[in-house]
Amino acid sequence: MNEDMMTRAERLGIAAVNGADGLTVESATEPVDNSVADSVTGSAKDSLTNLARRDKPVYYVHTLGCQMNAHDSERIAGVLEADGYAKASEEQIKSSDVDLIVLNTCAVRENATSRMYGTLGQYAELKRANPNLQIAVGGCMAQKDRQRITEQAPWVDAVFGTKNIGSLTALLHEARRTHAPQVEVATELQEFPSELPTVRASKASAWVSISVGCNNTCTFCIVPAVRGKERDRRPGEILAEVENCVARGIKEVTLLGQNVNSYGYATGDRYAFSKLLRACGHIEGLERVRFTSPHPAAFTPDVIEAMATTPNVMPQLHMPLQSGSDKILRAMRRSYRIEKFMTILDNVRAVIPHAQITTDIIVGFPGETEEDFQATMDAVRRARFTSAYIFEYSPRPGTPAATMEQVPADVAHDRFTRLHALQEEISREIMAEHVGKNVEIMITELKGAKDARTQRVSGRDRGGNLVHVRVPDGYEHPQVGDFVTCTVTESASHYLIADPNPASGDTYELRR
Ligand code: SF4
Repeated sequence: MNEDMMTRAERLGIAAVNGADGLTVESATEPVDNSVADSVTGSAKDSLTNLARRDKPVYYVHTLGCQMNAHDSERIAGVLEADGYAKASEEQIKSSDVDLIVLNTCAVRENATSRMYGTLGQYAELKRANPNLQIAVGGCMAQKDRQRITEQAPWVDAVFGTKNIGSLTALLHEARRTHAPQVEVATELQEFPSELPTVRASKASAWVSISVGCNNTCTFCIVPAVRGKERDRRPGEILAEVENCVARGIKEVTLLGQNVNSYGYATGDRYAFSKLLRACGHIEGLERVRFTSPHPAAFTPDVIEAMATTPNVMPQLHMPLQSGSDKILRAMRRSYRIEKFMTILDNVRAVIPHAQITTDIIVGFPGETEEDFQATMDAVRRARFTSAYIFEYSPRPGTPAATMEQVPADVAHDRFTRLHALQEEISREIMAEHVGKNVEIMITELKGAKDARTQRVSGRDRGGNLVHVRVPDGYEHPQVGDFVTCTVTESASHYLIADPNPASGDTYELRR
């Protein structure tokens, strides 16, 4: 899931790490009195000179991309705070009054390169107004573009790879000392990012990495090139992190990996992922377990059984289809075929009838004909996904598909429009089936602008659907992390509304 796929609540979750959604380029920080810097403790103090109005340097992390990146940003925040930095407030971000900006980049998104340099160009203006501001670039684009970033954007102080988060503060100190940009991009993993300190974005939900990298070679994907081969964490470490999260009040954990169910294959344990799910089922206080993303080729029956028989594993599955055409799946180097994919969905629904299944689909992949596209439309009709993240293919330099014969952009766009319309119709039908039923929601958000107007709180049901709930008059208001069971009264294609009226038999029950 990339940031475009996240709900506002989840983006706000990232913003809890980041502070807010963006900096104001027009407004520059004022000149400051350096004497206050002497009162700061921690090593970050030594490297900063503009600390007149605060006792710690403040940082802002701007995250682009998927949940893996969002989780890496939590590690970046943890490393910075361990070094004496403090997260910038929304006010400080709005007025561009920060000492450090970290851009955590994504190489998967369309136009990733131009987007990154565009953002860095805006930061250059901030730096002109405040020369003490430091700028760091991490993530997949840093891994991929390395030296080029400091050549094209010489105002960047530090470039650090996906495996170098732990070096960030040392690079910043060195850049300040030498007045020269610092670059550290390792190709081999030295330590799991999970071993670094973390500032978690949410009080109730946590991401826990089970692996990094990917052993597959999908021809459209840049991940193997920038994140390297899959490396799995030991189960004991993963479970210890989950237990630690629960001890700190986390109720929901999402296990993260580029291909979660190939977890353990390197050590010859094909059942390692289902064992991990089952082990999560024994963790007292862990209410909800989710995972993303599985790969259809490695999705074995034991995972389905573990999902069905482990009560805290949620009835939700994000299963990337990518294409409904076997010819295109072959060209994508995706090793399953459409019938295998459909069999998996049937098997999941046979034991978890209410499973909410979502997917990713690429339209306009090189070589895709109208017939191939119709195979994708058919697959979508059969699969009845709750929702689908549909992408118009765009070539990523450095991937095999970028060199294949491309589908014209207008053709790809037309296919996107048709598939999107079909999926919207299916999504609306599936969501409408919830009306009149009770759902259990974990509250994730209390005060969105619209929620403030409508007096609603928001959260996710067990299947992962977004639900906005109005608290009936006289009933207790929930807090983030509380559970509300309530009657759904309306639906749209991507969310449900619950305005329960207990006087007429609707349910509203709060559980802390
Ligand atoms: S499974 Fe394919 S799409 Fe997913 S990260 Fe690996 S190579 Fe990329």
